[in-house]
Amino acid sequence: MTDYKIIRETAYEANMELPRLGLVLFTFGNVSAADRDKGVFAIKPSGVPYKDLTPEKMVIVDFDGNVVEGTLRPSSDTKTHAVLYKHWDGINGIVHTHSTYATSWAQAQADIPIFGTTHADHLTVDIPCAPAMSDEMINGDYEYETGFQIINHFNKLGYDHHEVEMILVGNHAPFTWAKTAEKAVFNSAVLETVAHMALLTQQINRQSPKLKAALIKKHFERKHGPDSYYGQ
Ligand SMILES: [Zn+2]
Repeated sequence: MTDYKIIRETAYEANMELPRLGLVLFTFGNVSAADRDKGVFAIKPSGVPYKDLTPEKMVIVDFDGNVVEGTLRPSSDTKTHAVLYKHWDGINGIVHTHSTYATSWAQAQADIPIFGTTHADHLTVDIPCAPAMSDEMINGDYEYETGFQIINHFNKLGYDHHEVEMILVGNHAPFTWAKTAEKAVFNSAVLETVAHMALLTQQINRQSPKLKAALIKKHFERKHGPDSYYGQ
C-alpha cells in the first residue's frame, strides 16, 4: 500500500472534489492520478458512492489497464484513462464526468464555440467534440476504443494535448486531463462553466459571433504566454 500512497491520496482528494463542485451525481464520474516513474495510476473503484471512498479504496492500474493493487474493481472507464496515459506524455491526471452542460454539448455532437474571454482565458480554440463512435468500436473493446476516439480526433485536428486539455466525446460526455489530477479537476469545472455560458449565449442570440482574434490572443497570453501578468 505504501508504494502508491501519494497517488492514492491524490486520486482520492481529486475524486472528492467532483461532488463538491457539483460535477457529478451519485457514483458518476471518475478521476485518476498517475505516477509515471512507476508506470501506474490510481483510479476510483467502480460504483462506490463518494461518501464511502477512502484513499485505500483507490485501485492501482498499469498503463495497459491491468490491476496492480487493490481489492475492488476499478472504474468502468479505466481503459480509457490507460490509453491516454500510455499514448500522451506529460499528463498525470484525467477526469471524466457527465456534468450537465458539457454533456449536453456532447449529446448534441457540437464543438463549444469560443464566445467570450472566460473561454479564452483557458484555451484559444472551440472545445472539440469527437464524433460519435462507430458500431465496430462500441461492440469491440468499448472503453479502450473511447481512448482512441479521443486521440484520433486530436490527431485529425492537429491539436497538442498539452495545449488543449479537454474534449467532448460525441453522444457521451467530457474528458479532461492535465499535468496534475488537481488541475484536471479544475479543467472539468472550467469546461462546465464555459459550456453553460455558451448555451445561454446561443439562446439569447442565435447569431452570436465568436470572440475576436485580438481578444482571444490577449486573454490567453495574459494568463499563459511568456509575458503573462495574471495572478501574483
Ligand atoms: Zn461516461
